[in-house]
Amino acid sequence: MTEKLFYTDPKVFEWTTEITGVFEHDDLYYVTLKETAFYPEGGGQPADLGWIGNYEVIDCIKKDEEVFHVLNTKPEEKVVDCKIDHYRRIDHTQHHSGQHLLSAICLDLFGINTLSFHLSNETATIDLDVSSLSDEQLNKIEKVVNDHIVANHKVNVFYINRDEAEKYDIRKIPEGIDRLRIVQIENIEYNACAGTHVNSTSEIGLLKLLKTEKMKGKIRLYFICGLRLLKDYTEKHQLIADLSKLLTTGQDLLLNQVEKLKEANKEKERNYTTLFNQYADLLANQIIKEQGKEKVYQIFQELTIKELGIVSQKLLENEAQLIVLGTKNENKLLITQSGNLSIDCGKIVKEEANKYNGKGGGNAKRAQCSFTNEQSLEQFVLHIKEKINI
Ligand SMILES: [Zn+2]
Repeated sequence: MTEKLFYTDPKVFEWTTEITGVFEHDDLYYVTLKETAFYPEGGGQPADLGWIGNYEVIDCIKKDEEVFHVLNTKPEEKVVDCKIDHYRRIDHTQHHSGQHLLSAICLDLFGINTLSFHLSNETATIDLDVSSLSDEQLNKIEKVVNDHIVANHKVNVFYINRDEAEKYDIRKIPEGIDRLRIVQIENIEYNACAGTHVNSTSEIGLLKLLKTEKMKGKIRLYFICGLRLLKDYTEKHQLIADLSKLLTTGQDLLLNQVEKLKEANKEKERNYTTLFNQYADLLANQIIKEQGKEKVYQIFQELTIKELGIVSQKLLENEAQLIVLGTKNENKLLITQSGNLSIDCGKIVKEEANKYNGKGGGNAKRAQCSFTNEQSLEQFVLHIKEKINI
């Protein structure tokens, strides 16, 4: 059986050992070692990755108390230098110890039990046995957790027999295990856990609560710790600095400035709509002058489908009967009619447009259609003009 260094010393990142076994399955090689510091996935903590000799360890799993290191290539050496990705391990350790502390404080302050813990490269979460958490509660939890991080409580790891468990206030005792590994945060709690942990709470660095989500009537709480928190802060700090530069304003006035811009933009949109309506009036008059009221066909370069709708409405107000308007900007077409014609605009789109890869629909008086390119749009307009008997 492999000696598991991660149980005795979570700070072993490099060591030399012997390969004790290799078996192949589905083009992957499962390697066992005499001693390993590679933590296999378990208890919410992801597996360590790293290198055995020059071979990359792409996963690490535990089966029947044996640790299997997963490699893409079969190692030929007997004695190997091993190295784990120590930033990944430190990140996992900070979050796992952070989770123990966070769960203990949720229980201590508000009597809320933790149901599960999930950790990945992107997120760290606990599911809490409660249907809601107020902002005040979250603020209190975050403050107390960080006070305990700064207090630098020692974290001890020791083993006890199962029948000794009642001497300690352990919330959840794992089933089917006679010898329990206890992770104690001094003055805080005892926890039966096989994961890797910090030596004292200050190594967690800091813990920040990010958000909550409702999950099947319970609360999922997202948090972040230590070096990952620093990375996240650095990215957000840069983002704020970039936004400040872009909007030429101080950080404290950013929100105010964005609100001002949003309001100014709305005002511009309102003005544009007013002006476009006036322009559409003139345009409708001119089109009718050129083409008459019976049938109107026009393809624009720049208009949006919404603007086609306004032009179409103005044409209807000027007693146009059939109106076919397109825009090359969006490769879209709008067909409307006054209601005096016996044609069905929706039916034309449905039955004819697919010949030109057009997709859309509508009702008898109004239908809309999208094309993949402007040639198809133009060909379909020609098709309506020449082949449809309106
Ligand atoms: Zn744990």
